[in-house]
Amino acid sequence: VQANVGFIGLGNMGQGMAINLIEKGHEVLVYDVDPSAVEAMIARGAQKQGLPRDVAAHADHIVTMLPNNDIVREVYTGHDGLLGQIQPQTVLIDSSTIDPAVSQEIAAAAKAKQAIFVDAPVSGGVNAAAAGTLTFMVGAESAGDYEKAKVILDAMGQNITHCGEVGTGQAVKICNNMLLAISMIGVSETMNLGMNLGLDPKLLAKILGSATGRCWSVDTYNPVPGVMENVPSSNHYQGGFGTALMTKDLGLSQDAATRTKSATPLGSLAHQLYRVMCNSGYSGKDFSSSYEFLKKKD
Ligand code: NAD
Repeated sequence: VQANVGFIGLGNMGQGMAINLIEKGHEVLVYDVDPSAVEAMIARGAQKQGLPRDVAAHADHIVTMLPNNDIVREVYTGHDGLLGQIQPQTVLIDSSTIDPAVSQEIAAAAKAKQAIFVDAPVSGGVNAAAAGTLTFMVGAESAGDYEKAKVILDAMGQNITHCGEVGTGQAVKICNNMLLAISMIGVSETMNLGMNLGLDPKLLAKILGSATGRCWSVDTYNPVPGVMENVPSSNHYQGGFGTALMTKDLGLSQDAATRTKSATPLGSLAHQLYRVMCNSGYSGKDFSSSYEFLKKKD
């Protein structure tokens, strides 16, 4: 099915996602506050729109990939926002990582305009965004709404799961990232201790990777420089998933934990550690720089 797909938020993730939509034959209408991001997409065959509401006037499906709660609210419900010009039955897909409660709030506003809203946050990072192999966790009111969004998500991802009602995609996403942050800090301090005990980091990582401490932060994204190739730790912690974005996601899980009276002692500590890292010059580095932050500086 070829569609007129609006795309708003052409950053690290959004660019690759929008290019995949174009390559699969969709007509893609773009908007971003950063003119250079828009120009890059026009060069790839996208059409430029002046404001979010202009995208809404011309698209039958719209994907948003934006930094945070406030910006998502502004793009949907602000003065020049999508919902001002939305046409009935338009399928709105938000792939940003935001608070599940904000997704539910926007879904209700979209429903009042007879549009369909689903939350569809992603896992996989910039490489998977460019390759069209993202994992999507989808919150949709009905199986029918999910199917309507999936037609578009198929062009950008591989593992696509309907998690439940609106907000449940975000719920899965913030749970995953809380666990990821905890495991990354755990691996960082473990590797540091082992090296201080005189162990070779590659040997330690290899044994941990086949022992009961095994996890993604050990065997796929090890935080110690030189242990693995093609990971941010072996490239001065450049690229990857920034500490500032991880800190934002930990804030979302802590908000949700407070709201639901869930005890998350390690999630809370991870949030504070990543906050201290942001305030110590690490905000733009990959989140695996928790190892560099913790290690003995001699
Ligand atoms: P980014 O900062 O690279 O891109 C965000 C884009 O939004 C930028 O191009 C920016 O100009 C644009 N933007 C900001 N305000 C806007 C507005 N008012 N109107 C229109 N455009 C606006 O961020 P990213 O890394 O692409 O991440 C986007 C979302 O995806 C975040 O919620 C992030 O947590 C999530 N995410 C990122 C990764 C990753 O590895 N980078 C992985 C999974 C999920």
